[in-house]
Amino acid sequence: MPKNVLAPPRSPKSTNAPSLAEQTVVSEGPAPKPLREKSDPNQHDFDVCVIGGGPGGYVAAIRAAQYGLKTACVEKEFLGGTCLNWGCIPSKVMIAAIERLEHVRHADAMGVQLPGPPTFDFAKMMARKEKVVEAQRSGIGMLFKKNGIETIEGIASFLTPNTVEVVSGKERRKVSARNFIVATGSSVAKIPIPGLEGPNVWTSDDAVIATEAPKRMLILGGGAVGVEFAYVFSGAGTEVTVVEMMPNLVPTMDEDLGVELARLFKRRKIAVHLGSTLEKAHKGKNGWVCAIKTAEGRVEVEADVVLLGVGRKANTDKLNLERVGVKLHRRGIEVVNKKMQTHAPHIYAIGDVIGNIQLAHVASAEGLVVAANCAGQEMEMDYNAYPDVVYTIPELAATGLSEKGAREAGRDVVVGKFPYRPFGRSMAALEQEGFVKIVADREFGEVLGMHIIGAQASSLIHTGVAAIRLEATLDDMATIIFAHPSFGEVIGEAVHDALGHAIHKL
Ligand code: FAD
Repeated sequence: MPKNVLAPPRSPKSTNAPSLAEQTVVSEGPAPKPLREKSDPNQHDFDVCVIGGGPGGYVAAIRAAQYGLKTACVEKEFLGGTCLNWGCIPSKVMIAAIERLEHVRHADAMGVQLPGPPTFDFAKMMARKEKVVEAQRSGIGMLFKKNGIETIEGIASFLTPNTVEVVSGKERRKVSARNFIVATGSSVAKIPIPGLEGPNVWTSDDAVIATEAPKRMLILGGGAVGVEFAYVFSGAGTEVTVVEMMPNLVPTMDEDLGVELARLFKRRKIAVHLGSTLEKAHKGKNGWVCAIKTAEGRVEVEADVVLLGVGRKANTDKLNLERVGVKLHRRGIEVVNKKMQTHAPHIYAIGDVIGNIQLAHVASAEGLVVAANCAGQEMEMDYNAYPDVVYTIPELAATGLSEKGAREAGRDVVVGKFPYRPFGRSMAALEQEGFVKIVADREFGEVLGMHIIGAQASSLIHTGVAAIRLEATLDDMATIIFAHPSFGEVIGEAVHDALGHAIHKL
């Protein structure tokens, strides 16, 4: 079994909760000492000071407070960080609007009649996005209040190993703490393309505050960010071209997913150039003229907006990390162990700033681990199985090893694959695109990876996450009874396919 990493404490505020000293600790380290012995309020303002209020930092702060630690969170801009304000949530509001629009467009096939073709109000979608973001942001503020966390506004930088200075306008405040959690995230980094400068060169930060859909857009990068915006803007009426350097879209995922997505993009009339680079651009009479080097030669594509869907850098600049012995590697802060400690053992680092897996839920999971460690629980982060999702419609989701990754790791693998198409639920819901692919060890049947493109992939993938985490085999999975009719049945049939006896295979 994988090591337990995320056993949550029970809130000390709940009436039935045991005291911290009474809590059962599911970890392999020494039993925790009573917390109050460890903290010395005369010496430090806080037990824990979290720097950065994104999904890594805010979750770490709440969990630290749940352990009874006196906790502060310094945030220079908005609670929720990149994810809530410029990333996960704004993009998903936009995706949800386009998905709804397309459902309405195709409603006739289901017998739903409309008086005419639906119209789409881009500005209204963006106003709703703002409301959703604000509601979520104030939700975090309320959680902080409820848990007695002090929010300190401003930019933090280390003065001494146990003190940061927080600067907000003309105000300066010194904040001392026994432990620090650096969760300062990452920011867009514009990659230089000769000639491509000035207005109408967007990053994802600009795309989520767009006021209208441009007529033509070239998106550099066919990773998660690039393809999600390709889906959104093409749905809103923009003529989209995607340029991806690797031979596949979403190149970090199993290649079958990228191939299928490219096929579906073609049907949506999104032009995709794979194995291609944007060499240079210049301003022509009708917008940007982009010179693309493809595998076959060179092509020129005109666009009103170029969206740079690649390039982020860790936010380490203003922290004065060298002063306190925290070291960096090429992509961010170096953590020296699975407890997420940096070279300065009382300073932890989590999330995008460590330049590892740049996903909100991984940052939050790391936050839970470090909060536990600040409370003396000796927890370790386990990256064995986590979901990786791309929210195009249909969605893509993956966990564990890709088929190629498993083979490269020297595993003898067996693969099962099953399409959504024949299932009753898929037909009923007009959701017949896509498939589930399962990768397992041939000898022992251990599930190594699951890869899905299709309806509800972001939810279905958790079956795969659980399977890998619990070291399930194909035989174990073949005993799961999936509801009928449901998309889960596709997983069931992919498992049976790997075992050589799928029921619905012609
Ligand atoms: P961040 O969210 O970047 O938060 C860091 C915070 O620290 C910021 O609020 C910043 O203001 C603050 N800060 C920085 N320096 C200082 C300082 N010196 N003092 C005080 N405060 C400071 N991930 C997913 O899992 N799912 C998705 O669907 C998804 N979609 C995305 C879409 C887009 C367009 C983008 C750009 C990213 C997306 N991501 C997604 C990635 C996700 O946003 C990040 O992985 C996640 O936000 C990282 O969380 P974090 O807490 O490490 O950092």
